[in-house]
Amino acid sequence: MASTCAHPHDRPGLKGRALQAELEAAESRCARSDQRLTAPRRRVLELLLESGKPAKAYDLIAAFGEAGAPAKPPTVYRALDFLERQGFAHRIESLNAYVVCRHGPDSHAAAFLICDCCGDTREVEPVGARQLNKVADDAGYRLTVVTIEAHGLCSACAA
Ligand SMILES: [Zn+2]
Ligand SMILES: [Zn+2]
Ligand SMILES: [Zn+2]
Repeated sequence: MASTCAHPHDRPGLKGRALQAELEAAESRCARSDQRLTAPRRRVLELLLESGKPAKAYDLIAAFGEAGAPAKPPTVYRALDFLERQGFAHRIESLNAYVVCRHGPDSHAAAFLICDCCGDTREVEPVGARQLNKVADDAGYRLTVVTIEAHGLCSACAA
């Protein structure tokens, strides 16, 4: 993301043991719900954890192969679909990107505060999600995905 201010913008993702621990936790969470964290699913989750911020599908496709070989796009899209359904990741429509979710365990309503300067994205408790569910209920809708995306500047960029 193009940045317009001079302060440092790096928000490091996970690596080393913290990354491995997160992947192992994801594996046991899948096992508990009778799901399998297959190699492609695990690799995509790893890339999202390493990134530490929203990642676009084509970046994931390009980075997928350990030896620099890109993945077949459907492999990555299917993995993202799984991770989203299992509550490991969210799709952020306005960025056309995916971000890891560490709030689990299931898919849940989510709200994101998105900094348009540095791209920092924070998942917060969605305000009004319960009311929205009630309104949907009354209208006879069963909601599957609720994501609120709020754009602005983070505290570092606003300063
Ligand atoms: Zn979440
Ligand atoms: Zn910012
Ligand atoms: Zn900034």
